[in-house]
Amino acid sequence: MQANSCISDRHRVLLTHAHPDHVQGAAELRRRTGAEILIHEADRPWLEAGRVPAHGRSGALGRLIDRLPKLHWTPVAADGTVADGELVEGAGGLRVLHTPGHTPGHIVLLHEPTRTLLTGDAVFHRGALALGPAALASDPELRPGSLAKLPRDLATVAFAHGTQLTQSDMPAFYQFVDRLPASS
Ligand SMILES: [Zn+2]
Ligand SMILES: [Zn+2]
Repeated sequence: MQANSCISDRHRVLLTHAHPDHVQGAAELRRRTGAEILIHEADRPWLEAGRVPAHGRSGALGRLIDRLPKLHWTPVAADGTVADGELVEGAGGLRVLHTPGHTPGHIVLLHEPTRTLLTGDAVFHRGALALGPAALASDPELRPGSLAKLPRDLATVAFAHGTQLTQSDMPAFYQFVDRLPASS
């Protein structure tokens, strides 16, 4: 599979955050490819615990679903951490932008050569641009401030959940970010 060979070539898996739908495959990926698993320091304890902790969601719904065994994962000891502003080498480099709110250690990644932003779960695009349910975020009020620092010279925005945006869509994306309330 192309995806596997790509990961194997780079020997690194950069996790945007420690939520089950983003990390449940991490242990198996490392076993199969020998890849290093990297994550922001603030989400590292979650990755290593194999579940989102009780304080990891701002709402009761979030805390409830995290008790479900199917939302737990094989604990992974991260091979390293990444920090805001860091350039992770490989494939032309990925710039790390720390965007707390969805989780404490959420990061978005900017592929500088192509001006492609990988949003993780900082923004969803399932039909419309949205921040996602506040109850599932660790600190929803941090989200608008985190997004305010995103670059404004992007060519493509790719989402973990939703269809990507390209050049002509960029004004709508910037407008969404600009119109977020100071806290929501
Ligand atoms: Zn998430
Ligand atoms: Zn997700």
